Amino acid sequence: MTFDYDLFVIGGGSGGVRAARIASAEGGAKVALAEESRMGGTCVIRGCVPKKLMVFASEYPEEVQDARAYGWDATLGAFDWGRFRGTLDKELDRLEAAYRSTLLNAGVTIYDARAVVVDPHRVRLASGEEFSVKHILIATGGRPFVPEVPGGELAVTSNEMFLLDALPKRALVVGGGYIASEFACILHGLGVQVTMMYRGASILRGFDDEARGMVSTAMIARGIDIQCGVDVARLEQGADGIVAHGTDGHAREVDLVMYATGRLPNSGGMGLESLGVGIGARGQVLVDEWSQTSVPSIYAVGDVTDRINLTPVAIREGHAFADTVFRGVPTKADHALVASAVFTQPELGTVGLSEEAAKGLDPSEDRGPIEIFSASFRPMKSLFAGRQDRVLMKLVVDQASQRVLGCHIVGAGAGEMIQLAAIAIKMGATKADFDRTVAVHPTVSEELVTMRKPTRVV
Ligand SMILES: Cc1cc2nc3c(=O)[nH]c(=O)nc-3n(C[C@H](O)[C@H](O)[C@H](O)COP(=O)(O)OP(=O)(O)OC[C@H]3O[C@@H](n4cnc5c(N)ncnc54)[C@H](O)[C@@H]3O)c2cc1C
Repeated sequence: MTFDYDLFVIGGGSGGVRAARIASAEGGAKVALAEESRMGGTCVIRGCVPKKLMVFASEYPEEVQDARAYGWDATLGAFDWGRFRGTLDKELDRLEAAYRSTLLNAGVTIYDARAVVVDPHRVRLASGEEFSVKHILIATGGRPFVPEVPGGELAVTSNEMFLLDALPKRALVVGGGYIASEFACILHGLGVQVTMMYRGASILRGFDDEARGMVSTAMIARGIDIQCGVDVARLEQGADGIVAHGTDGHAREVDLVMYATGRLPNSGGMGLESLGVGIGARGQVLVDEWSQTSVPSIYAVGDVTDRINLTPVAIREGHAFADTVFRGVPTKADHALVASAVFTQPELGTVGLSEEAAKGLDPSEDRGPIEIFSASFRPMKSLFAGRQDRVLMKLVVDQASQRVLGCHIVGAGAGEMIQLAAIAIKMGATKADFDRTVAVHPTVSEELVTMRKPTRVV
């Protein structure tokens, strides 16, 4: 049987673009990709990239302050959001065009349209045009949402944060995850008075307790009002702003409420359930280790599968799918020891097990004692500038094998540092491997190779 396309990819984000390019350029497949919004997806248009650029923008006030301590006669002028946004928009246009031309150069046909699945070998565009296809890849990502709360329509999500006409004076960020924490720091750095409201006990749940505690303390010290154990009961439009009534009985008036309380997979309205594609409780497309769904011709990668919702993971999953199905190289995406960073001020970089997760390892798997090597200190650069900031260098080590199970770094550049530590840990480095590596001096990360005695054994 012949098909219009060997592969039809739905979604032009991190996972879809990689899969389409590899299947076409390296797998020789006839490939089409449909994108209903802007090419590049969440990461490029409304996620990692614009966020990181906003992080950079938000760091200048501290840098100028520190410059004064270093002898510079520096003063901080006003921040011009309009100017920043103009440059940001241009950069996103450039990246979107680059993604588009990469696909076209790879021989992929692009449809700027929403696509749905009609049957295991058929997709339909919003225009009604249909194609027969041998394989379908669902790479539709995820989306933020505002939970059901009275007045919820007054709130925005991360999607709108990159499109604001003006910066608010006062903002409430609802949520305690990495996106909420990053935006709280960004807004604070840009001069906005920020309150964070999180219903849990402390922000950045899931990250190493010592590391997230240090980030939270530093955020509070910088002036971010972090309210834990509180949720929004209702939002109301007041005369001078939005009034957020908390479950603690307090009302807070702000100019902007941003919800970052989680993201949901974009699997609805695509015809998947009726075809028998397994869908999980959160709406995630259920796949096996080859990213194949319960319908053999349909695969799914990236956030829509809700495995590890990070760009490099979506890319790896897309690549592994294309290798397996179109290049004859069966490849499973490897989800072990994925490093990541939280771009708060200070940053948090993490890979592997947290102290708590290591302690919680199943005793039936013969878990022995875990050695914790943890050093917290004021780094040279900010200490000189009179800051109280502390950094954290932490290794979680299995005592019996001496394998390093996890590494957690808090401090400037933690995202960059953890990438390199992750290579060693992925290779199976032991504590002795770290110890026999000569330090680079004077650096903050030299502490990773100079911690001789465990701080505690758990
Ligand atoms: C604010 C924010 C910050 C983030 N920061 C980081 C970070 O620092 N590091 C990191 O690794 N990750 C980060 N992420 C996560 C990262 O963006 C995602 O993990 C990644 O984009 C997932 O890629 P994907 O291909 O699965 O989906 P997406 O990139 O979301 O792409 C899916 C695409 O499918 C399109 N689409 C959906 N339905 C259809 C349809 N029916 N037809 C046609 N097109 C459709 C969408 O328009 C979208 O363009 C961040 C996310 C957010 C929201």
